[in-house]
Amino acid sequence: MSEAVADKDAGAVAERFTELYGAEPHGVWAAPGRVNLIGEHTDYNDGFVMPFALPHQAVAAVSRRADGVLRLHSADVEGGVSELRLDDLSPESDKNWTAYPAGVVWALREAGHAVTGADIHLASTVPSGAGLSSSAALEVVVALALNDLFSLNLRGWQLARLCQRAENVYVGAPVGIMDQTASACCEEGHALFLDTRDLSQRQIPFDLAAEGMRLLVVDTQVKHSHSEGEYGKRREGCEKGAALLGVDALRDIPYADLDAALARLGDEEEVRRLVRHIVTENERVERVVSLLESGETRAIGPVLAEGHASLRDDFRISCPELDLVVDTALASGALGARMTGGGFGGSAIVLAEETDVDALTKTIQEAFTTAGFTAPRIFEAVPSAGARRLR
Ligand code: ADP
Ligand code: MG
Repeated sequence: MSEAVADKDAGAVAERFTELYGAEPHGVWAAPGRVNLIGEHTDYNDGFVMPFALPHQAVAAVSRRADGVLRLHSADVEGGVSELRLDDLSPESDKNWTAYPAGVVWALREAGHAVTGADIHLASTVPSGAGLSSSAALEVVVALALNDLFSLNLRGWQLARLCQRAENVYVGAPVGIMDQTASACCEEGHALFLDTRDLSQRQIPFDLAAEGMRLLVVDTQVKHSHSEGEYGKRREGCEKGAALLGVDALRDIPYADLDAALARLGDEEEVRRLVRHIVTENERVERVVSLLESGETRAIGPVLAEGHASLRDDFRISCPELDLVVDTALASGALGARMTGGGFGGSAIVLAEETDVDALTKTIQEAFTTAGFTAPRIFEAVPSAGARRLR
């Protein structure tokens, strides 16, 4: 996002804060949504992921309080200011959006950090429930603001861990660590190669425009819901696979040992499929990293397509709309395409030559019309900056 746009966002959000709370905010912060280039559902298997930050971001104007009160307001949700007492915060007590920022405050205090209250107004351009991590953007922007205002001196990855704990325990959604780390740690013009076991990371240059390519996000507008059902089942299936194979996490099965591992799983057909996806997906992330680092960017296209097939056939979390994006894109000259995010809806990504973007966009839109699906929202994803203070 250009500085000019970020400044405008900061100004508008600060002004609204002042209207709501009667004084100027102590500061304004931003944290982006993300797209995952490759490495899907590997993050709760201690594996590899490779997200990059979107220009879409949550912006928060925040002031410190000393009286144990937390006031919350979102420009994107109907209703007034919510007022909570810090001493009353308790996990899974709140089914509203306020659970995300309140959960961050709870997690910080639980970890022993002296957060004594805050007034928060936020506004986000990250589409909610589209697989682009609007929830992590919300958590990370609040965590970063409180980190600065209360001089906690926590690093990006530490804030990400606390935000994950907020979402796991306070909100009650069993998500991995990728989204929060991406929002906290990504850099403009780069994808983040992240080892979710120890959170070691490497910034991989990822400037498609310079090479005549574009990456499109196609939001199918099909809403997923992470907190329940299928996501939890996949997670349990992966844990069962690791237990049956006698490892801490599926990350510990090397790609070279995949066939032997599958043979050991015998007639556990469902678990075999989950294990095969995770082990091959980790290998795909490593392949994409080495292709990008050796300048063979176009060659990542087929790897993305392989990843989609694995999510569709082995992990079984695609849906007709996502498959339609990928099939249409690949049949119409895209370099690669795959679903991204948790699955069962949300978004797909399409890697394409710059010169093919208009035709591809039109073809995908037409395919959705023909199938009788809701029109998708299609936009270009430019690798953007991670969380930061705007003013
Ligand atoms: P995703 O992170 O993929 O967008 P989630 O289901 O994890 O989807 O998070 C979406 C939830 O995050 C919303 O239902 C809402 O509670 C909260 N949320 C996201 N953006 C905002 C916002 N701008 N204002 C208030 N709540 C938001
Ligand atoms: Mg989320």
